[in-house]
Amino acid sequence: MDLYEYEAKQLFGDRGVPLAERQLAASPEQAELSAARLGGKVVVKAQVKAGGRGKAGGVQVADDAADARAKAERILGMDIKGHTVHRVLIEEASDIAEEYYASFLLDRANRSFLSICSAEGGVEIEEVAERRPEAVVRTPVDAQSGLDRDTALAICAEAGLPPQVHPPAAAVLQRLWEVAREEDATLVEVNPLVRTADGRVLALDGKVTLDDNALDRHPERVAFHDDGASGSLEARAEQKGLNYVKLDGRVGIIGNGAGLVMSTLDVVSYAGEAHGGVQPANFLDIGGGASAEVMADGLEIILGDADVRSVFVNVFGGITACDAVANGIVQALEMLAARGDDVSKPLVVRLDGNNAELGREILTRAGHPAVVQAPTMDGAAAQAAELAAK
Ligand code: GDP
Ligand code: MN
Repeated sequence: MDLYEYEAKQLFGDRGVPLAERQLAASPEQAELSAARLGGKVVVKAQVKAGGRGKAGGVQVADDAADARAKAERILGMDIKGHTVHRVLIEEASDIAEEYYASFLLDRANRSFLSICSAEGGVEIEEVAERRPEAVVRTPVDAQSGLDRDTALAICAEAGLPPQVHPPAAAVLQRLWEVAREEDATLVEVNPLVRTADGRVLALDGKVTLDDNALDRHPERVAFHDDGASGSLEARAEQKGLNYVKLDGRVGIIGNGAGLVMSTLDVVSYAGEAHGGVQPANFLDIGGGASAEVMADGLEIILGDADVRSVFVNVFGGITACDAVANGIVQALEMLAARGDDVSKPLVVRLDGNNAELGREILTRAGHPAVVQAPTMDGAAAQAAELAAK
């Protein structure tokens, strides 16, 4: 589970990692109040579980409280890599002298951790590693013996941090290591770790991935599961109780029954070969007894995926017969259209099993312009792949 920056910083703060003063805000009004409380210049930062917020305009410096309100207004609701911004972190602006990079990540292959450190932070570390590999220092850290002060100091020196920064930066590294170990994190990353003009070392950004397998050891973590405001497709699907997994392709998939959906992925992938390698965009099983509402929830998630070009609805009527599913599709499209959602992406529907004939009739009568019917699974997959390739 990835944490939001403000959650990562809570963990950092608990373990004594130096941070700038900050407050979370969910509205421009709150942003203004928080900025007024902090006083002076602040940074308004989009809270989304995606990197590169700065480049996307999701990190902006505000001169005063009124400006913080205006900037929050602009950032709230923004879409950053498919994540809608619902909250901003208002942070006291820092006077940055230098930007560094520090992280600890679980190295499963070697059953240990890896410390990665560089004096060239603020940009993506992959970029630095490509351009100047010698500027990125990798040091194994044993999970048992941990990171002592001498090793932390040596890492700072090897990474080329200026000598006066070694003691405070090494202390930060040791504390970040504590976060990684004590919280069972698979990644703890600070980019940038900064030196301020007045000589302090602060973690200005924070990214933490917790190991979901260690959940039992951290009952307090339920607080982080509160994903209500997360904009990611998977988080939204989880909220709706849908069995959904995002994949890389362009053909949205909805089916009833995990086995049927798995084979649907296979046939779409196969059919896609004839259309430049088109692939499925997701796994979504709406289950055997899916109501119109569940169909609407599923379609909403899939049509809301910017990568999706066409949708393949593959249903085998069982507990819920095909006529009920067809009505569900028709109602779902009406519900979505009424809410102003875009329902123009082509929907290839294949109905088979109980009352399939009746279901097809219902769809034909409804005559929705986006719906295309196909009698067979292979035929439907071919059509969906072709439509996605257009
Ligand atoms: P990211 O783009 O998602 O990694 O967001 P960051 O939190 O790392 O912020 C991006 C960049 O904004 C940083 O690398 C800094 O250059 C800049 N930035 C963030 N906070 C401050 C601040 O307090 N003062 C100044 N001057 N710049 C900041
Ligand atoms: Mn960053």
